[in-house]
Amino acid sequence: MSTFNLPTLPYTYDALEPHFDKETMMIHHSKHHQAYVTNLNNALAGTANETKALEELLGEISTHSAAVRNNGGGHFNHSLFWSLLSPTPKQAPEGALAARITETFGSMEALKAEITKAGMGQFGSGWSWLYVKADGSLAVAGTPNQDNPLMDVNPTQQGYPILGVDVWEHAYYLQYQNRRADYLDAFWSVLDWSVVEKNYELALSKM
Ligand code: MN
Repeated sequence: MSTFNLPTLPYTYDALEPHFDKETMMIHHSKHHQAYVTNLNNALAGTANETKALEELLGEISTHSAAVRNNGGGHFNHSLFWSLLSPTPKQAPEGALAARITETFGSMEALKAEITKAGMGQFGSGWSWLYVKADGSLAVAGTPNQDNPLMDVNPTQQGYPILGVDVWEHAYYLQYQNRRADYLDAFWSVLDWSVVEKNYELALSKM
């Protein structure tokens, strides 16, 4: 039996207010994310895949069912998302990541604009990503539903995700209603760049 578990948040549900409200955080984590975990475990139960690690499943997702794709993606994406958020975030990257961002996008503001554009341009539900490609370069992309750059479904946007922002309506509708742009703007106030820096080092170590 697969035993993927809902990760415990390192902050309380109200810790990210006023940027992300308590009720959204509670429902998003305890209901939405929990459902992805439960449904992923159910989809894998009794199959030859139930002992595989999540990143392994995602890397070969084209060979799996829609249930594994949607719920495996949902579990990975939300686990990453929670880890990026903090009530006391590091406001900007430093070191190798900062240098690479400037080199690739021109400036931090230009990178933020790219991530916002990919999020705003994602019709319906999905995610906006900053990820590391196999050659070590940085790229931004939007993906539909619970897909992510680890999945072997779109070679033009495959790599290791180091920052992801959820643009499903369930991530913002209670607080921001239809104003996805306002939610994406608020995201920068709770994004901890120290985690993105660590993810960047991890991604490079996997290349
Ligand atoms: Mn979500």
